[in-house]
Formats: sequence, C-alpha cells, structure tokens
Amino acid sequence: MESFSRWFDTWLLPALGVVGGLLATGAGMGVSYPGRWIGGVGGAACIWSILWLRRRRQHERMETGSYVHNLEIELGRVQRSEQLYAALLASLPVGVLALESGHPVYANRAAVEFLGERVTQRGAPMPTAVRQVMEEAGAGRALSRQFSQGFPRRVMEVRGYPPGRDGFVLLHLFDITERSQTDRMRQDFVVAASHELKTPLAAMQAAAETVLVAIEDDPDVALEFSGRVLDNAIRMSRIVSDLLDLSRLESTTPKMEAFDLSDGLGEVVRRFSSSLPPITFDAIPTPIIGNRSDLALAFRNLLENAVRHTPDSGRIEAAVVSRNGEVVVTVTDTGAGIPTADLPRIFERFYRVDTARSRATGGTGLGLAIVKHVAEMHGGRVEVDSRLGDGSTFRICVPSVASGRSG
Ligand code: ADP
Repeated sequence: MESFSRWFDTWLLPALGVVGGLLATGAGMGVSYPGRWIGGVGGAACIWSILWLRRRRQHERMETGSYVHNLEIELGRVQRSEQLYAALLASLPVGVLALESGHPVYANRAAVEFLGERVTQRGAPMPTAVRQVMEEAGAGRALSRQFSQGFPRRVMEVRGYPPGRDGFVLLHLFDITERSQTDRMRQDFVVAASHELKTPLAAMQAAAETVLVAIEDDPDVALEFSGRVLDNAIRMSRIVSDLLDLSRLESTTPKMEAFDLSDGLGEVVRRFSSSLPPITFDAIPTPIIGNRSDLALAFRNLLENAVRHTPDSGRIEAAVVSRNGEVVVTVTDTGAGIPTADLPRIFERFYRVDTARSRATGGTGLGLAIVKHVAEMHGGRVEVDSRLGDGSTFRICVPSVASGRSG
C-alpha cells in the first residue's frame, strides 16, 4: 500500500499533470490565437496544480512519519519502564500480590513461589490466613496474620493493605522462618537459663532457712548449711558469669590484636598448677592476630572440663601448633570420654551428657558453647574426638590472621 502510494506520487501524478497540460495545450492549438494562449495557460496550471498536490502529499507523509517515529520512541520508553518495574518487583524477597475486585490480578516472583503458579487464576487454592487478610483488606481493614506451609515447613507472615486511590488491594508476604526459629531458640534459652538459676536459688533458700532454725540449737548443722548457701551462691555466680560472657560474645565484635598465643595460653596453664591431674603444655612461639582474652577464656574452659572429667591418675596434655596457615590449640585427656551419640550436641547451651555429674563438679553447661563462639568469631571452628572410657581431644582451629566473625 505504501509503495503504491509512493509510485502514485512519483510517477502517476506528474504524468497526469503532463498529459492534462498537453491535452489542454493541444486543445488550445486547434483554435484561434487567444484559444492557444488559454490552452497553454490551462495546461501549465494543470501541471502546476498536480505538482503542488504531489508536494503536499509528500509533506503530509513526512509529518505522519515523524509522528509515528515519536510514538515509537514513547512506546519504547513506556515498555522500558514497565520492564524496570517488573524487574524490581521480581527481585524483591517479599511477595507482592495485587487484587482487583477481591481477585488476585498480579503476583510477583516471590508471591508465586510462596503461593503457587496458579495464584492469579480463579479458584486457585489459597491458605486460609491469606484469604482472611484478602477479605479484611478488601473491606478496608489493614490486617496481618502468620501461617506455616510446605515441607520443609516455612513460617510466613501476610499483611494486607486496604485499597488506595487506584483501587488495588495490596498484600505483602514475608518468609519469617528464620526469625521465628531465632525467637523460639531465644525463648527456650530464657526458660533453660531461668531453670538453671532457679535450682541453686531454691537450694540456697532452703539452706538459709535451715541455718536460721539451727543457728542457736545446733551450730554444727548451721555451719554445714551455711557452706551449702555459699556453694550455691558460687554456682549461681558462675552461671551468671558464663551467661554474660556468651551474651557479650554474641553481641559485640571483639578487638583483634597481634600477640603470641603460646605466651597468652601459658598464663592460663600456670593458673592450673595445683590441679590434678597435672597439665603438660607443649608450645612454641605462635604469632596470631586475635582476641587475647577470649582465646584464653575458651582454652580455660577446655582445661576445666578436662580436669573435671579426668581422674587424678590420668593425663592432660595441651599444645599449640601452627599448620597450613592455621593455629590449632589441642587439649587431650584420658578421662571419662563422651558417648558418640552425644557428640553432635555437646556444644549446645546447657547440654550435658550427665547433668548431675556436671552440676556436682561445678559445670554450668555453657563452657563448650563459649568455646564454639570464640572459635567461630575468629573465623575458625572447634573439633572433638572422643570415645567413652578412653578420653577426649578438643581442638580449637583458627586462622593465624583471624578473619573475624563468620556468622
Ligand atoms: P559443663 O559445664 O557441664 O562442663 P560444657 O558445655 O563445658 O558444660 O560441656 C558440655 C558437656 O560435655 C559436659 O556436661 C560433659 O558431659 C561433656 N564434656 C565436656 N568436656 C568433656 C571432657 N573433657 N570429657 C568428658 N566429657 C566432657
């Protein structure tokens, strides 16, 4: 169509003009003088008007062409910004659902992932909580609900926003699985810590009451129970001190410094000089960048455990070695050992293999959790090899130049 119109303008129109002009001129030639003039002028006017018409059509075509061109540019711009918004919405970790007349008309990638491919189709299955939030938001009430779904189980939160001026109801979906796990762990920890503190507190209370009753009539009993008050006070203070250490390790970034680890740990071993079994310490100067007091604290916890779980006739060997860019602190004992089934859990807070024995020997159940934290905060790890009845070897492995908290 376009090529015909071009052909029409280029060839046919001028040809018609020329033919019309010739005819008018020819017609004029056959008659008298003024007739010839009139014919000639008529022919020229005919050619001129057809050429003018042709020019006008070309001009119109140019105008239409530039209008279409501008329209194409504008369309490209709109498409580009549409692509940008789609990419932004798709990149959000939050699910976004838009509803019109109570029905989902748009779902971004996260929403499809959470609610399924068919979420925007009529009759698609929808969790009850999402349906409730949709209805409430449609009725103009902002609402949020939590629900869980799928395997592995995911905990979700859905929030609904009443329609704005555009008339769309919006729903946001958040995956709060990790947050709810952390909340639960925190709650469990508070319960466990309270329980740990309540036990010595109750013992102290009972002992103090006995002291009050016996102080006049039976001074020996009073003395014995005063000792119990003191023991439980010491136990409580140990628990509180370990809790504070754990909380500090979790919430603050330690100050790293360059120092000789063998030197720092040697000081700790010296504090155990009167304990049984005696501790041998094998170390050569080992420069490291790390936190001196936290590494000493972790090492002290390993030595305390070894002493508590090894008979006086046993052996405890501690060493510091450097290998492959790593510094390894080892504490080996020939004590009670740990059943294989318990090994994966001994670094959890308040986990004990034998609760009564741990409490009786002054354990808080937090020592190894602290060791693990210190190792990880230095970008390292803690390892254990143990066999029931044969003894245990604990290793703290950290990079010579600590890379910092790993998570
Ligand atoms: P606790 O204060 O009870 O020692 P830890 O967190 O330090 O708590 O240790 C957790 C549990 O691991 C202990 O209760 C104990 O049963 C076991 N354990 C730790 N170190 C040793 C060891 N050297 N020998 C045997 N058992 C150990």
